[in-house]
Amino acid sequence: MTSKPEWLNSFLSLLSSSSSECLACGKQGRASSLSPVLCVNCAAIIPWIRTPRCPKCGRHVGCPDCSRGGEPSHILYNRSAVAYNSVMRDWLGRYKYRGNERYAPLLGLMLEKAYQMLKVQHEDAVYQNAFIRPRSAFPFRRSTSTVSWKADLLVPVPVSEPRLVERGFNQAERLAAELSWRTGIPVLPLLVRTHHTDKQSFKGRAERLTNMKHAFGPNTSIIENYSNWLMEITDALSLPAVSIDSAVHDTKHTRPVRIIIVDDIYTTGSTIRACADSVRQMTEACSFSSDIYSLTWARS
Ligand SMILES: [Zn+2]
Ligand SMILES: [Zn+2]
Repeated sequence: MTSKPEWLNSFLSLLSSSSSECLACGKQGRASSLSPVLCVNCAAIIPWIRTPRCPKCGRHVGCPDCSRGGEPSHILYNRSAVAYNSVMRDWLGRYKYRGNERYAPLLGLMLEKAYQMLKVQHEDAVYQNAFIRPRSAFPFRRSTSTVSWKADLLVPVPVSEPRLVERGFNQAERLAAELSWRTGIPVLPLLVRTHHTDKQSFKGRAERLTNMKHAFGPNTSIIENYSNWLMEITDALSLPAVSIDSAVHDTKHTRPVRIIIVDDIYTTGSTIRACADSVRQMTEACSFSSDIYSLTWARS
């Protein structure tokens, strides 16, 4: 039997490299419409959260934390792309702990689905005036529901220095970068981890909460950039002065800066709340108000 000619070998190798070996199951299979790196079977088992049961934290199951009032929160609402089941835990583990970077674009595009949910939620909320804080009822504002809602800034949850050394990257920062690339929303690493928190799972709820409260602080190296950026977007934040009260007719209204905290997973929300608190204070220090949301890839 004669060996195949050189051109045929290169042609075949080209074919085999373009036929898709699934990132998740490793089998050759038909690429899914979601992503070419994922086969149809693996894409089919993604536990998407399409309609969150909790409008506040985006949880897919009943949520006692939010319904009993929970901790005071500066987060308007959280949205997560998927429920954190064993398959999702495996995917995140391969990315976060075993450094398989090929997961980054996939998780990023999944996170964008959560962003779309947040957007729709907000647009609906404006329309129904259901989730808007009372202060927006006066001065009376024209509904912005006809205008597409867009966030102004993404802020990743920081990891501690030892974690960074251990993993080589901050998964939240990568996710924020992916989302930024997909949506055009800028990213600023406004926060730093002020102290290394130990394995959270071994702590009681109360201890975990107090521990978290002081875990984040402003990233001093970026405060000046942040302040400059806020000045730059001031015009974009100003709303047309629409008021039934002629006395305030000429007042220039400025809407709050819309900031999204980004992380890989939402468990109790204490991390997100602590970050939101710091971001709100930093923004207030620059004389701006903020509406803070969060997006996480998974919700446990
Ligand atoms: Zn697969
Ligand atoms: Zn909830």
